[in-house]
Amino acid sequence: TKHFPVRRRGRAALTGPKRSIQAVDDVTLTLRRGRVTALVGESGSGKSTVARLLAGIYPRTGGDIRLHGEEVNVKHGKAFRAYARRVQMIFQDPFASLNPVHTVRYHLTRALKIHGRAGDDLEKSLHELLSRVQLTPPERYVDKFPHELSGGQRQRVAIARALGADPEALLADEPVSMLDVSIRLGVLNLLRDLKERLHLAILYITHDIASARYFADETMVMYAGRMVEGGDSETITQRPAHPYTRLLIDSAPDPDRLGPVDNRHFHVKVPDPGVDNRSFHVKVPEGEPPSLIDPPSGCRFHPRCPVAMERCRTELPPRFEVDDAPGHWAACWLYDGAAG
Ligand code: SF4
Ligand code: MG
Repeated sequence: TKHFPVRRRGRAALTGPKRSIQAVDDVTLTLRRGRVTALVGESGSGKSTVARLLAGIYPRTGGDIRLHGEEVNVKHGKAFRAYARRVQMIFQDPFASLNPVHTVRYHLTRALKIHGRAGDDLEKSLHELLSRVQLTPPERYVDKFPHELSGGQRQRVAIARALGADPEALLADEPVSMLDVSIRLGVLNLLRDLKERLHLAILYITHDIASARYFADETMVMYAGRMVEGGDSETITQRPAHPYTRLLIDSAPDPDRLGPVDNRHFHVKVPDPGVDNRSFHVKVPEGEPPSLIDPPSGCRFHPRCPVAMERCRTELPPRFEVDDAPGHWAACWLYDGAAG
């Protein structure tokens, strides 16, 4: 959980209620080695904040991080550095994350040295890193400056730098959204290849649910700072259970990449006599995500949800199992089996 305090000016600062942006609320996720987990949602849904919490860039308001079952003490310098080495972050803008006055050699050498992995033959280690990210022959790239590289090559250097720490997990925040469409697939394929060969856990943050289907083993959907649905990527994209996931899919710019979506899936039993069970082909209206300073009560999606029930306005839905696939869940009262 991460709440950012909101500063108020003047009298309000002294007399008004304390306010905060509830950017991430009670999000739980598990990354596993050899798997890509996608975190999907609109901008402002809290996805990047989750990555920054996991990387220790932001302190948490609540909750904990566990590595191999053991709690990570972010306040303990040494323990935290050991954790931070194993969990590396890749940012959206490779140009901003590389220092323009330094060469590829500098960036990679620094990463290797910080993590004590420079070894006896530094040149060999550098070449290995560059080969890993398919910048070959390495001699062609090692003395280049960031501006001499294309966006895709820069992102590969950023990935190589992350690999310099010999991590177990990569937190990739929109790693291809700033790259030309034509080279996005190449970078995603590289990450997938690294996942296999180095047995990495990858958190893939994206607003593009179609790319999650292609690239991620499992997909989690966030709305307004909370997780609303999760399961294996094929299930989430073919048989979305949560009305918000349906909206994301309906508004995907390139629906072909999603394949045929099963419309019948929305024939769930609605535990509210006010809603007609048979005509549940929802078309969720476009709209804006709510303010996170004063998020809606109950289900945060209720102001936009075409099938909202009375209880949705006041009661926060927990995760319910959706029984079409193992591990598929939705935080939505429609799936409250007990009530149906
Ligand atoms: Fe809609 Fe209610 Fe489900 Fe929220 S809990 S998505 S408001 S039906
Ligand atoms: Mg973001």
